[in-house]
Amino acid sequence: MPHVDLHLHTTASDGQQSPAEVVLLAHEIGLDCIAITDHDTTDGVGPALEAAAGSALEIIPGIELSAEDENGDVHILGYGVDLNNADFQAQLRAFRQNRYDRGLLIVEKLASLGVQIAWEDVLGFADGGAVGRPHIARALVAAGHAADVKDAFDRYIANDKPGYVARKRLSPEDSIAMIHTAGGVAVLAHPILVHDYPAMTERLSRAGLDGIEKVYPRHDAHTEATIQALADRFGLIVTGGSDFHGLGLPVKAMLGSVNPPKGCVEALRQRIAARRSGG
Ligand code: AMP
Ligand code: FE
Ligand code: FE
Ligand code: ZN
Repeated sequence: MPHVDLHLHTTASDGQQSPAEVVLLAHEIGLDCIAITDHDTTDGVGPALEAAAGSALEIIPGIELSAEDENGDVHILGYGVDLNNADFQAQLRAFRQNRYDRGLLIVEKLASLGVQIAWEDVLGFADGGAVGRPHIARALVAAGHAADVKDAFDRYIANDKPGYVARKRLSPEDSIAMIHTAGGVAVLAHPILVHDYPAMTERLSRAGLDGIEKVYPRHDAHTEATIQALADRFGLIVTGGSDFHGLGLPVKAMLGSVNPPKGCVEALRQRIAARRSGG
C-alpha cells in the first residue's frame, strides 16, 4: 500500500520547513505521494515540484482555505487546483493581504493589553509567506510572553482569547465554489475541529463537497467510523493527512504519521479529472 500524506504545511504559510525540506523529509520517510496544502497560498507547490523532479515522489497541488461560520472555523482543503488560474490567485492574494492586516490588528490589540511584540518579529517568522497566528505565537514566545506556541494560543490568541481578531469571513460554501472554479476538488478538513461536523457535512454536501478528511491525528476510531458513515451517505471521498506544521512541535503530528484510506489518491485523481472535464 502506498504511503501518502495529503495534508501538510510549509514555510509558504505557517509550516516551519521549506517546500524543499519537506520533500527531502518525504524521501527520507519513504512517502510515495504528498499534497502541499498551505493556508491561502499555492506558493509552496512549485518549489516542491522542483525539489521532487526526477524522483518517484508524487506532488499533488493543494490549498487549505480558512472558512468560518458563526460557530467557528471550517477549513476546506482543495486538491488538483490549477495554479495558473488568475481569478483563484487574485482571491488568494486578497486573503493573504487580509491575513497581513489582521496580524497587525492582533499585534495592536495585544499592545493595548500591555503585551508588546514587534511586528517585524512576526514578519520575520512569516518569512514572506502567508501570515498566521502561529507566527504571532512564535513572536510572543520570543518576547518572553509565553512558554511555547500552545501557551501563546491558550493565553492570548485562541478564538476566545483577548488578543483574537477574526479574519474577513469566507463561507465554507464560497470556498468550495472557489476550489471548483480553479478545477480542484473540495474536502472538509479535520472534521473533529468543526462545530457539529455531521450537520456541516450534510450542509456542505449540498454545496458540492467532494470529500471528507477521515484519517487525522486527533480522530479516534469512533470519529473515523462516524465520518465513514457520513461519506457513505453523501457519496464523499475519504482522505487523510497529518497536518504537519514542522519538526519538533509537540502538539502537531509528524509528516507521514497517518496513512489515508486505501485508494483515496486514485479516487481524488478521478474526481479531479471529472471536474476538469466539466463533470
Ligand atoms: P490563522 O489561520 O491565522 O487563524 O491561524 C490558525 C492556525 O493556527 C491553524 O492552522 C493552526 O496551525 C494554528 N493553531 C490554531 N489553534 C491553535 C492552538 N490552540 N495551538 C497551536 N496552534 C494552533
Ligand atoms: Fe496552520
Ligand atoms: Fe486546518
Ligand atoms: Zn492544515
